[in-house]
Amino acid sequence: MIPQSYIQEVLERNDVVDVVQSYVQLRHRGRTYTGLCPFHNEKTPSFVVYPDTQSFYCFGCGAGGDTITFMKKIANLDYVEAVKSLASRAGMPLPQEDDQAGRQRSRILAMNKDAARYFFQQLNAPGEQAAQARAYWHRRGLSDGTIRKFGLGYAPDDFSGLQRYLRQRGYTDQEMLEAGLIKRSQKGNLHNTFWNRVMTPIIDLRGNVIAFGGRVLDDSKPKYVNSPETLVYKKSRTLFALNVAKKDPSRRYILCEGYMDVISLHQAGFGTAVCACGTALTEEQVKLLTNYADEVVLAYDSDEAGQKATARSLGLFKNTPIKVTVLNIPGAKDPDEFIKKNGADAFGRLLDKSANGIEYNLEKLRSRYDLSTDNGKVEYLRDALTLLASGLTPTEREIYAGRIAEQTNVSKATVLNQLESTVRRVSDRQRRQRQRDLQKEMVPAQIKVPYSLGGDKALAAVNAEQQLLAAMLKDPSRIPALRDRVDPGDLIMPEDQELCRALYGLPPQTGTTVLTALGSQLGEEGMSLAAQLLARNSDNALTARDVELFVQRIKQRTTAKAQAPQSEEEMRRRLEALTKAKTQSNTQS
Ligand SMILES: [Zn+2]
Repeated sequence: MIPQSYIQEVLERNDVVDVVQSYVQLRHRGRTYTGLCPFHNEKTPSFVVYPDTQSFYCFGCGAGGDTITFMKKIANLDYVEAVKSLASRAGMPLPQEDDQAGRQRSRILAMNKDAARYFFQQLNAPGEQAAQARAYWHRRGLSDGTIRKFGLGYAPDDFSGLQRYLRQRGYTDQEMLEAGLIKRSQKGNLHNTFWNRVMTPIIDLRGNVIAFGGRVLDDSKPKYVNSPETLVYKKSRTLFALNVAKKDPSRRYILCEGYMDVISLHQAGFGTAVCACGTALTEEQVKLLTNYADEVVLAYDSDEAGQKATARSLGLFKNTPIKVTVLNIPGAKDPDEFIKKNGADAFGRLLDKSANGIEYNLEKLRSRYDLSTDNGKVEYLRDALTLLASGLTPTEREIYAGRIAEQTNVSKATVLNQLESTVRRVSDRQRRQRQRDLQKEMVPAQIKVPYSLGGDKALAAVNAEQQLLAAMLKDPSRIPALRDRVDPGDLIMPEDQELCRALYGLPPQTGTTVLTALGSQLGEEGMSLAAQLLARNSDNALTARDVELFVQRIKQRTTAKAQAPQSEEEMRRRLEALTKAKTQSNTQS
């Protein structure tokens, strides 16, 4: 039995879109992705992936389920094998190691907490060294309140102070090595990882100290030393200060280059500043940010490295719902310096008018062409207009057209004219594509049951019971109330009854998606039905009033059933025959 928490982590690290994409070429469309179904032969795509419910469904052959179902089917694996395969895809240790790893993890976390306490004590200790460390933080403009809030500290200039401190608290050298707090030298001696450095603890979303960043007090090298990756610390998945930022009501985040920028921005009242930890920004960090931010302002240094990082990061945000803007910091090398020179209010104004991604890209485009030649101007104009043609308001277009006119010495009227025709061309293309997509999706999305066979009452009842199941799948918090009102035996179709029982049997707080929680109870057909119901209702908000109507319709029929038991049995038999016929015709197509 694989622990539910492990399965949850496997799914967190394996987005359904990523996994499917390594087998199927997908095209992004609105909130969904489509492609050619890998489970049946087709020429036009009817296979749809839904990131919001982490599910997939094929409107052609009815294959559907969650990420684990997909893995099972595509690689022909059983449930446990599929989970293991996804785990190794994400670089996770195998599930049976889970318990021991869990113990080791909590041991490292406890040790890190003690180490953080030690560094903080050392910062506030008597003596010349500690005074210099305190002076360093103060020189950087940090108040004692900020130092306390971020748990900043000092690792004194000795090789084994922390090691002795941790030994006294019962940690072994082996454990300290695993936590990355001490290291083995080439000669084989153990020594502290950090000495004579000011220390910044890195804290995860649950408030655990997972790593440290250490910086020298002067200009000696190396300037920064960071904790190595450990069982509890993965650089690429961590954003510094997100644990603080997530409490801020603002959904506009400021992405900085280093810890110092982040801390001084927080002190200046910008509570959503975060940064990557000792790496360039990663896709995982961007994905993490989408949970908290609607807008991200890139506030990297104005030097060449910072500009490169900006360009790279813009690329990472391209396919996310986050609006990205780029901060232009005039007359200062980073936000920290700007705030010291001009104050927090000036920085706030800077944020409000921060250039958006278009402006940044336009600037980049311009530097690529030689605008003193006619050829350069023509090429720049062509690329710039394509860039401006989608996703801008008319006012924005007007502004940028003006700027391009200035840069190229072409009249603004001409630029606007050309822009209009580019916009028309681009949106025509997009509209044709949308129509094609719609046609594809509309047709197979309904169950076709001829009225003559089941009678429209039975049809309406089947529809109501399936919509009721969909409502539970979409919002499992409805399950307890419905459990008391609708008996699974009240439903007509046996597969609906089975799904209903499985839903009623779910533990209250599963943590995973409903589909995944059902995965261990339902067979392939049950999963496919659940995925189908979610897919059909992907754009429907099923309200409490809808649910009430479904329940009443089911109730009406069960009352009638008591009066005419025979016709009921007959109806069920007919509907079953019908579904079988439908499945067969699908597998043939
Ligand atoms: Zn298919």
